[in-house]
Amino acid sequence: MASPLSLSIWFFFFLFFVFLIDPSISTRTTFIKLPGSDDGSRYCDSWRLAAETNNAGTWDVIPSVCVDSVADYLNGEQFLSDYNVIADYAIAFAKTVEISGDGKDVWIFDIDETLLTNIDYYKAHSYGSEPFDVNSFNEWVVQGTAPAFDASLRLYNALKKLGFTIILLTGRDEDQRSFTESNLRDAGYSGWERLLLRGPKDQGTSATNYKSEQRSKLVEEGFKVRGNTGDQWSDLQGFAVADRSFKVPNPMYYIA
Ligand SMILES: [Mg+2]
Repeated sequence: MASPLSLSIWFFFFLFFVFLIDPSISTRTTFIKLPGSDDGSRYCDSWRLAAETNNAGTWDVIPSVCVDSVADYLNGEQFLSDYNVIADYAIAFAKTVEISGDGKDVWIFDIDETLLTNIDYYKAHSYGSEPFDVNSFNEWVVQGTAPAFDASLRLYNALKKLGFTIILLTGRDEDQRSFTESNLRDAGYSGWERLLLRGPKDQGTSATNYKSEQRSKLVEEGFKVRGNTGDQWSDLQGFAVADRSFKVPNPMYYIA
């Protein structure tokens, strides 16, 4: 007859072989699940937050697993709500600014994905999951059919009413001035003081440096850059930054 000790040893080996044959019986079920592995929607919401807050840093295209999620967001109510909340905060700040009345209190706006939406272009290019094609985008710009974001138009008009001088600062090229102006007017914008576009000397400069240089020139002219609204961190960061900057959402592309 087997002793209790030898029975225990046999039982131990029995369990060992059972776990070896079928690991699913193993008690080691608490391994860390990598985001995105089996919950695309949750991962894509997290990715979008990381992209908006600049925690994701520089990125080229949106993760392919997130195309549907980004499309749903951009075409849904959440995007409109996000834009409206930002516009409300910007207007609330603007009302606290003491306007000097000399025309020097400036609010800067970026254009693409800030005043005008190119969603129809990006819809045809998988919402930013394809690498950016400058030639194809320029063909779209020439058409001049990009509509306004309702929330941006509301913010823009509120700022004008409060007495801010509006300056438009875009990465578009100088030779796109006439298409850009007519597109802006058709979309409902009017009364800007200046439209600053990239000239020949600005080519090859990073967006952050180009826009900082332009703001710096305004400061040298005596303008006070009170507010700035853009969809890219490169619209807002660098030097000669505004008193307050407002980042509007854009989960489709990143410009450094
Ligand atoms: Mg933009």
